[in-house]
Amino acid sequence: MSEFGGKKASVVSLYGQVLAPDTFDPTPEIRELWDKVYNQMREEFGEAVFRSWLKPMALQAAYHGTLEISVPTRFMKDWIQTNYVMRILEMCAAVSAEVKRIEIVVVHGHVKTDETEGSALQVPAKANVNDMAAQLDLSSPLDPRFKFDTFVVGKSNALAHAAASRVVECNVPFNPLFIYGGVGLGKTHLMHAIAWELQEKRPEKSVMYLSAEKFMYQFVRAIRAQDTMTFKEIFRSVDVLMIDDIQFIAGKDSTQEEFFHTFNALVDQNKQIIISADRAPSELTGIDERLRSRMSWGLVADIHPSTYDLRLGILKARCGQIGREVPDAVLEFLALKITSNIRELEGSLNRIVAHADVTKCAITLESTQEVLQDLLRSNDRRVTIDEIQKQVAEHYNVRLSDMHSARRARQVARPRQVAMYLAKQLTSRSLPEIGRKFGGRDHTTVMHAVRKIEELIAEDPSLAQDVDILRRTLTG
Ligand code: ADP
Ligand code: MG
Repeated sequence: MSEFGGKKASVVSLYGQVLAPDTFDPTPEIRELWDKVYNQMREEFGEAVFRSWLKPMALQAAYHGTLEISVPTRFMKDWIQTNYVMRILEMCAAVSAEVKRIEIVVVHGHVKTDETEGSALQVPAKANVNDMAAQLDLSSPLDPRFKFDTFVVGKSNALAHAAASRVVECNVPFNPLFIYGGVGLGKTHLMHAIAWELQEKRPEKSVMYLSAEKFMYQFVRAIRAQDTMTFKEIFRSVDVLMIDDIQFIAGKDSTQEEFFHTFNALVDQNKQIIISADRAPSELTGIDERLRSRMSWGLVADIHPSTYDLRLGILKARCGQIGREVPDAVLEFLALKITSNIRELEGSLNRIVAHADVTKCAITLESTQEVLQDLLRSNDRRVTIDEIQKQVAEHYNVRLSDMHSARRARQVARPRQVAMYLAKQLTSRSLPEIGRKFGGRDHTTVMHAVRKIEELIAEDPSLAQDVDILRRTLTG
């Protein structure tokens, strides 16, 4: 085994790491073998994998049929060992049958390859961060439906939407951007939209999006693999870091600590951070005070519960996307009825559309109520006058205070009469009681309103429908 005569020059340190040999001078045959395999790896595994993982591999020693190859981090070692080493061995063996084993060793701060300086390899080159993160499964996949053009803007989410757009248009307009709001109100949608848009408009930026849960999981994994270095390197070299649902790390002290340092390192380099949570920074109990206050330094944008108009807008947009015509009355009914959460709203639309497909029946208000029975029943409650006033005000887009006010303009007087009519129909309150709830009006006023609406129902189909929708919504 003459060409493998080079002595094993590396030394195992007290800490178990293999230290770099100062003098390993491979024979020309070995040098040639390695060069050949090195180039072959690039061809076979592709440029992205090669640059992320294989490029830093350096010939370290050769002895007794073993080729010893160094890499700069433990993480890289594990990764290569799991994914590539068998194939690399085959390549080597194809060149020289004498190669029987490949030993990957970690040599911190000492990397040599044929083309690259060691220092450059310590931190992955910027263009590689995306590849590398993807390889490592660090970032989360982006939902192709969650883009800016499918996000419907209304009063309740206008601020968050504007802030998200600014982050794409300007370079770090505020840091961090903190978006918060209840479940299913579009936080994740907005974050994905930012990531998509950045990929398109600023492809040179490395963007990383992941949930706080995943951040923690990766961090713990890095600790187990004793390779927090790679973890830190990757997270601290992105241009835009997006962490979704940060409330998840409440009570997880070491993850918070790591996130705090990552956060600071990125802010110091003027790199954009975007965070989402289900509540305001100040209300994130279980999260360290330092971190909480740091997170509110930039722009804090909240997404409010949706309005009727927004819900209707979303439903209409959705019908457009899936290319379906659904009667307005049905959409209005859904928008009125399913108020808590946009995910549920979209789910109910999908359900009625699917039902119509299967049964080959048209979508009607009746079929909708039937299909969504369980959902609607779970929302069933005793109706109160307050609720009636609120629904009616929302439906007609008037202020709730107009239910009590003395204003007599038609656009507020008619909705008020509808509300009184519904209060009479749907509650057991007496006319004087209802009158009192409507800004202390007389019972004869209530009586007049009830009669007036009864008349109008008979002659004005659109008003009849309004009342019908409101009644069904309120009663489930
Ligand atoms: P969150 O992350 O706040 O819990 P998501 O972003 O996952 O909520 O949104 C839930 C669902 O509602 C998604 O399907 C999303 O596309 C949709 N959605 C929420 N807000 C809007 C909006 N303004 N326009 C269109 N779709 C929306
Ligand atoms: Mg979310």
